[in-house]
Amino acid sequence: MLSSPVAKRDRTTGLSRRQAMTALSATLASCWLPAFDARALPLSYSLKPEKLTDGVWMIPGAQEAITQSNGGAIANITILDTKAGAVIVDTGPSLRFGSALSALATELTGKPVARVYITHFHPDHVFGNQAFEAGTIATTPAVVKGLEALGEAFADSMYRSAGDWMRGTELKLPGKIIEGGVEDFGDRRIRCLPMRGHTDSDLVLFDEKSGILIAGDLVFLDRAPTTPHADFERWRISLANLGGIPCSRIVPGHGPSEDTDRGIRQTRDWLEAVYAMISDAFEKGLDVSEAVALELPSWTNKIALARYEYERTVMHLYPKLEAGKLPRVDAQSR
Ligand SMILES: [Zn+2]
Repeated sequence: MLSSPVAKRDRTTGLSRRQAMTALSATLASCWLPAFDARALPLSYSLKPEKLTDGVWMIPGAQEAITQSNGGAIANITILDTKAGAVIVDTGPSLRFGSALSALATELTGKPVARVYITHFHPDHVFGNQAFEAGTIATTPAVVKGLEALGEAFADSMYRSAGDWMRGTELKLPGKIIEGGVEDFGDRRIRCLPMRGHTDSDLVLFDEKSGILIAGDLVFLDRAPTTPHADFERWRISLANLGGIPCSRIVPGHGPSEDTDRGIRQTRDWLEAVYAMISDAFEKGLDVSEAVALELPSWTNKIALARYEYERTVMHLYPKLEAGKLPRVDAQSR
């Protein structure tokens, strides 16, 4: 996604300097005009939990890119009720979302939050962390490392894309490190399965009681996968491993939850098709604009954001292909 030059951002208001000036002008004008300023309305997320089975809910993300309309609420979030408290998987895009999520989890379960798992470091999954105690938020060492390296850049990008929804949001690192194994919460045992491929570290959660597999962004369904931090080969291996886990239902990172493995198969087919198209274009000597213009297979027509994500994948895969296969100019001159 192309973005405008970095605007100096005010994280109290979530506005760039230019937006703040525009808002100030509007406020001054409103002193004389009885006009109604829609921007003064408080933004609030309307979380609509879908019950998957007794004691497990999914809050579906919009099948869209991050925009000022959806406030970045594009990733699926899972809430599980346990005797020890609510267990939440991923915290959404902003402080405001995290606060609404915390309130919803307490309302659904009647208990405080016992654990929050973070599946991976992408901003639509982690910027609700501020609404939770750091020691409650668990993830892998590599996710924390990734957030330390890129979290601030992700925050800048989110403020540019989602705007005022991000007001007051700051990076908050998880305070509990897990490397695998199981965690027991009264009557529920959660199995933590560290994998990789969508990013350097993708934490999959399996609820033994319900048999529900929470796959994070290793699985997309009816929405094209994002690949800026992907390792295609490792992702393929992780998908094969996920396919071998007997489960009652899969919650993908994006898209509907189903009691089939359609998400695993569709994600695998997309990655294979897109990688083959792009590497073939590269081998044929097509430039980036020619590769971007190629027609996608017709089966992808029903997949949300197919063209958008394909173009993004070309933009970051091409330089990698060039770096791997073309002689470096600076190395040649020596
Ligand atoms: Zn992701």
